Amino acid sequence: MERSRREILKLFGITALALNTPPVLNAFAAEQEAGHGVEGEPFVKQGGDALKAKQWAMVINTKKFEAAEDVRPLMEACHSIHNVPDMPIKRHELKWIWSAPYHNAFPMSPSKFIVEKLEHAPVIVLCNHCENPPCVRACPTQATFKRPSDGIVLMDFHRCIGCRFCMAACPYGMRSFNWRDPRPFIDKTTYNKEFPTRMRGVVEKCNFCVERLAKGLQPACVETCGNTGAMTFGDLNDPHSEIRKVLDENFTIQRKPALGTLPSLFYII
Ligand code: SF4
Ligand code: SF4
Repeated sequence: MERSRREILKLFGITALALNTPPVLNAFAAEQEAGHGVEGEPFVKQGGDALKAKQWAMVINTKKFEAAEDVRPLMEACHSIHNVPDMPIKRHELKWIWSAPYHNAFPMSPSKFIVEKLEHAPVIVLCNHCENPPCVRACPTQATFKRPSDGIVLMDFHRCIGCRFCMAACPYGMRSFNWRDPRPFIDKTTYNKEFPTRMRGVVEKCNFCVERLAKGLQPACVETCGNTGAMTFGDLNDPHSEIRKVLDENFTIQRKPALGTLPSLFYII
């Protein structure tokens, strides 16, 4: 699982050459400019055929992650390609994917007594892309919305007015707020000109790598795991998909299932 920053950047094609090319308004940025994604229409393709699904979902095998260091390559991959900077002050922190202690990730766990290994294992958390997302209902401007074509919960950064109602509504705390302009803190060596940067007063979160799906690529975090079986991504509605196979063969749990948000993230514990 250990991968250097250089290897990660190489993996995602963020080379010095790419960094020197003129800005390219990629498919995701174009979609952001145009507003919401159009049902049934994938983003503009770049490279391979866009991956499509009725409902994208992810299975995380917590058994594959023993220490926080195991999660770090995933965080670096995600944050590098999405221009999520390390902010110097903790309360300004921005993050799309990170690890949490088991009891934080699953506070509604029926028993406080769990096997010790699990108790101290890092649980990867990111937006659950809920099928019934309360954040979407709370947003007064429809800046956050569930894409009808594949169930991904997205942000339209241009529409966000920074009221943070979506943050208050998310029962998982999976959204970050830009308390200050994040751009000066983006690492120049990893800056991805193909992904839009945000500004002060805007909310952000994991987007299930829509811009990569549009190019026929798996989410960056999933790709970073390789074929270890640590993460599986696929169409929940396709009975023949790999993710359905994994779900059929393993006992999985979701975060705070009693809330009825219907998370699209499943955890093998
Ligand atoms: S995890 Fe939170 S931010 Fe993500 S879709 Fe669910 S309610 Fe919204
Ligand atoms: S799916 Fe993409 S945006 Fe979401 S956590 Fe993984 S790498 Fe980050």
